[in-house]
Amino acid sequence: MTSSPTTSPGTPAANGFSALPLSPATLANLEQLGYLTMTAIQAAALPPALLGKDIIAQAKTGSGKTAAFALTLLANLNPRRFAVQTLVLCPTRELADQVTTEIRRLARAEDNIKVVTLCGGVPLRGQLATLEHGAHIVVGTPGRIMDHLERGSLQLDALNTLVLDEADRMLDMGFFDDIVTVAKQCPKTRQTLLFSATYPEGIAKLSAQFMREPVTVKVEAQHAGAQIEQRWYEVSETDRLDAVCRLLTNFRPESTLAFCNTKAQCRDLVAVLQAQGISALALFGELEQRERDQVLVRFSNRSCSVLVATDVAARGLDIASLEAVINVDVTPDAEVHIHRIGRTGRAGESGLALNLASMNEMGSVGKIEQIQGQESKWYPLSELKSASNAPLVPPMVTLHIQGGRKEKIRPGDVLGALTADLGYTREQVGKINVNEWSTYVAVNRDIAQQAASRLNAGRIKGKSVKVRVLED
Ligand code: ADP
Ligand code: MG
Repeated sequence: MTSSPTTSPGTPAANGFSALPLSPATLANLEQLGYLTMTAIQAAALPPALLGKDIIAQAKTGSGKTAAFALTLLANLNPRRFAVQTLVLCPTRELADQVTTEIRRLARAEDNIKVVTLCGGVPLRGQLATLEHGAHIVVGTPGRIMDHLERGSLQLDALNTLVLDEADRMLDMGFFDDIVTVAKQCPKTRQTLLFSATYPEGIAKLSAQFMREPVTVKVEAQHAGAQIEQRWYEVSETDRLDAVCRLLTNFRPESTLAFCNTKAQCRDLVAVLQAQGISALALFGELEQRERDQVLVRFSNRSCSVLVATDVAARGLDIASLEAVINVDVTPDAEVHIHRIGRTGRAGESGLALNLASMNEMGSVGKIEQIQGQESKWYPLSELKSASNAPLVPPMVTLHIQGGRKEKIRPGDVLGALTADLGYTREQVGKINVNEWSTYVAVNRDIAQQAASRLNAGRIKGKSVKVRVLED
């Protein structure tokens, strides 16, 4: 079953959630969240999923897959039963955190649904204590879930929904056997939902092991071409990184995701950009979890202009509203190109995809033209303004506050300290991220230093806090 969004003129509620068998409270909550129409993958996956069918769903990153499985698992959930009824497996802690956040938002309609995240890189002790308090929904990475199953700290006998999110990425990371082992420990009568951005061979093999007559729903990766303007520039190897600076200073996008084919290239590019005064951060595998979190927070709260990443590192990240994507290297896999440029021009906004290609990448460019069914538009680098033009500066700066959920800090407390206590306006404060042990708040660049020292001297929730400005 392949699906595309259906629209019928004159009925604004076409593809609305209200056609689904969801509770009135859930429908009201969706409306509050601004989820007015289903995304294509939601429209395709939710009807069979809410009938209890096993689902294999494939759609690109950013297409709303999380809500598709979250609404299903919530529909299966009995909040009065204090036992784990859902397990969601994710490849990384970051993705597990994002999924947990989305499930919590969607679960607001019901009272007291407990969602617990269980991932590696975090001490077991705290997780054991949390589990003892009971949980309805567990979101975690395969390795850590296996640990808990082996210790007997996690029981799955009341489980009714098993979700594999980013299944392709979990396979990339070598989790095949772990996933099968975990699935075998779930009750046979459960519903299994598998979500993936791509459909490598391993998925069929995986689903054959433990899914029951799954319904496959797929939304094509091809984008509505008009929304994304693609520009190609021919470069020599020696000019490539400098050309990225020129693209940035010329087009001046507020947020750019720059894809490189290797980690080494990511490192080199960040060094070159930073040397030119462009705020850039790299995301690659071997960063410590805390560093990764910081990079993502700073990029998504508009205090870093460029995020430089490999495909693996960027997969699955929910980063909204990217003005531009730069393909620093041409990917040899044309399908990957489609995914890369799909990070810009989302949800009806127009996007810019800038591509650099050297002579020996022209073969890959040809494959991309083929899959897109359109010829590349080439532009000369010489028409770009030089990199020494006005510097590209992000509008916000991130303040790091020591203390987070464990200290019972909430976003409202931070906003209150900055506005009610210190007299800044709501407009001068950006995104606030409260993590377990630390909090990040974006503030306008021109007040950052002052706000940091005033927060340092003041209090949040009656307690004095340590605050520092995060700079490159
Ligand atoms: P995926 O898992 O497919 O990469 P996500 O589930 O992370 O995508 O969703 C991407 C973004 O779209 C999220 O910020 C989410 O809140 C938003 N979103 C999901 N469904 C809807 C909807 N029906 N209407 C509006 N926004 C939505
Ligand atoms: Mg996802």
